[in-house]
Amino acid sequence: MAYVVGEACIKCKYTDCVEVCPVDCFYEGENMLVIHPDECIDCGVCEPECPAEAIKPDTEAEAAEKWGELNREYSGIWPNITRKKDAPADADSWKEVGNKYPEHFSANPGEGN
Ligand code: SF4
Ligand code: SF4
Repeated sequence: MAYVVGEACIKCKYTDCVEVCPVDCFYEGENMLVIHPDECIDCGVCEPECPAEAIKPDTEAEAAEKWGELNREYSGIWPNITRKKDAPADADSWKEVGNKYPEHFSANPGEGN
């Protein structure tokens, strides 16, 4: 079992989550983060840290079905991120927006740190 990052992270990317992860298993895309499912030790401390409530356990069917594979795929491609960085300037305006994946998901990597 692992935790997964879902749609709410897209264009929010507050990065509060990376500060608390004891095993540094977050990876950064251009406008969202993902968790490496084989590195996550399932401690759950990141879940309440996310202001966008984007992090869910993969025991939740919807999270696992929609986001499990995406977290696995992109955590193998994108760079590791271990320290908080400034959120995008318009992050708050995207926080309540739903269905962001079709138009706003980017497969491009972030910068990592
Ligand atoms: S805290 Fe939430 S919105 Fe921010 S990067 Fe982590 S998962 Fe994404
Ligand atoms: S559940 Fe724990 S190990 Fe997994 S991503 Fe969150 S903080 Fe890291």
